[in-house]
Amino acid sequence: MQSENLPRKPATPRRPLNSTVCSKCNSTDTQSFQMAYEAGTSSGTLQFTTYDPDAGFSASGGKTSNQTFLAQKVQPPVRPEWTFGEVFAVPFLAAIAFIIAASLNNAVLGIFLGLTVGSLMWYVINRRVSQKKPIYEKELSKWARSWICLRCGMTWLMRKH
Ligand SMILES: [Zn+2]
Repeated sequence: MQSENLPRKPATPRRPLNSTVCSKCNSTDTQSFQMAYEAGTSSGTLQFTTYDPDAGFSASGGKTSNQTFLAQKVQPPVRPEWTFGEVFAVPFLAAIAFIIAASLNNAVLGIFLGLTVGSLMWYVINRRVSQKKPIYEKELSKWARSWICLRCGMTWLMRKH
C-alpha cells in the first residue's frame, strides 16, 4: 500500500484541510458529517411538537432513534429550544396564579398575577435559550464543515473557501 511507504504523520484530527481525501490513510471514501448523518439516520414518521419563541408552536418531523453508530458520532449540535416541561409550565403556573387570586374574589388581581408570573417565566426561559444560540450557531457551522474518513475514522474541518 502506497500510504505505508510515506513518512508517518502525527495524527492531527481537526486540522483544517481543503481536500476530501483523508490525509491520514489517503482514502477517498470520505463523507461530510452531514452526508454521513443523513445516510445513517432513517427518518421515521414520529412527529413531535416543539415551541419556538419566534414562530410559536410547530409540529416538526422528528427523527426516530434508528441511527447507526456512525450517524450518532457525526450528529449535528442540538438546537437550543424550550423543553417540553417549560412549554407547559408557563401557562400552567400563570393559570395557578390566576386561580389563587380569583378565589379571593379578585379577578383583576388574578389577571395581573397570572400575566406577571407567565411573562416572568417566559423571560427567564427565553433568555436561557437565546444565550445558547450563538454557541449553537458556531458549533453548527463547524459541524457543516466537518468531514470523516469512513476507513480510518479521522475527522477534520474543511477549510473555508
Ligand atoms: Zn482515513
